[in-house]
Amino acid sequence: MLIWLLLTWAALAGELRVHMLDVGQGDAILIEAPGDKRVLIDAGTGKSGVSDLLKKRGIDSLNLVVATHPHADHIGGMAAVLKTFDVGMYVDNGMTHTTMTYSRTMQALEKRGVNYRAAVVGRTFNVGDEAKLTILHPRQTPLKGTRSDLNSNSVVLRLVHGRVCFLFTGDAEDPTERDLMNRGLKQCDVLKVAHHGSEHSTSDSFLRAVQPQVALISAGSGNRYGHPDPHALRRLEHAGVAIHRTDQRGTITVTSNGKTFSVTADGEAPRNQEASAEATALKPDDAKPAPTPSMAANPVNINTATTAQLDGLPGIGPSKAAAIVGYREQNGPFKTCSDLTAVYGIGAKTVAGLADRCITEDIQ
Ligand SMILES: [Zn+2]
Repeated sequence: MLIWLLLTWAALAGELRVHMLDVGQGDAILIEAPGDKRVLIDAGTGKSGVSDLLKKRGIDSLNLVVATHPHADHIGGMAAVLKTFDVGMYVDNGMTHTTMTYSRTMQALEKRGVNYRAAVVGRTFNVGDEAKLTILHPRQTPLKGTRSDLNSNSVVLRLVHGRVCFLFTGDAEDPTERDLMNRGLKQCDVLKVAHHGSEHSTSDSFLRAVQPQVALISAGSGNRYGHPDPHALRRLEHAGVAIHRTDQRGTITVTSNGKTFSVTADGEAPRNQEASAEATALKPDDAKPAPTPSMAANPVNINTATTAQLDGLPGIGPSKAAAIVGYREQNGPFKTCSDLTAVYGIGAKTVAGLADRCITEDIQ
């Protein structure tokens, strides 16, 4: 029965693709999710031509754009992206920078009237009907006094598509990794290696917490920083992680069907991987009697869901569903799923049980 459910669920689910674009020494990641939703995380350097790379892939609009932090190898191409494409929403880490690149980005944002949000931990976005993107970092009080506060406060995101999980880390460094682990970082299958594989990130303990199967590294061939660092590579190898590098293979694409995923580089055959056993155990939800298989994986937006939809969530019965709707009508939308604890009758345990189902925002 369980196998049938899983097979049916996988057949009904669409494919999600994550492209780590070959932008040389920088980051630019395009997510194409079922339901024709597109997210861009970072935009490479000004010279990397991200807008052209996106146009070549037939992209004409982006539902969500995230700037992990305001360094030029991440937002260098951002002003051009904002001028070229219709962008539904723009999220950054809320930190300003003194460079022309940063000012140009903010000017483009204002000129195009793009909906702007500073990252809030726990804010979750529905990316189409099947994928959910959650902000894990930075916290409201940013990390201070680190080797690079801009890097350490990179926006960190977790993308979940069925049983397949992706972790995007920007240029996060050791202090970020420790902060994430202190807050209970979960296992995740595909790791976007932080800071181009620098020595200051990807610690052994972080790898033990995340247990990734695949690591994606974006670095420019022969770059002057020596990225990726040999020690970071060794740590990944010791942890048994398959490493894929843009400086060696060009643009790398991970394709997920919600159950398994494969990794390809431009022009190469796919390498299949199963999602991990731990992630497998999460779905479908065995605790509930026979929901339709595709629905079992779908997140629910607590700001727009009906009482009937909320009632279907684990740990939420009809009275709690009504209390959520009542609270929302009185106090406005929930910023994060943790805010549900403000609703009478809902505690931290219930909220924890909703972790993989609750979202607070649909991207348009
Ligand atoms: Zn960088």
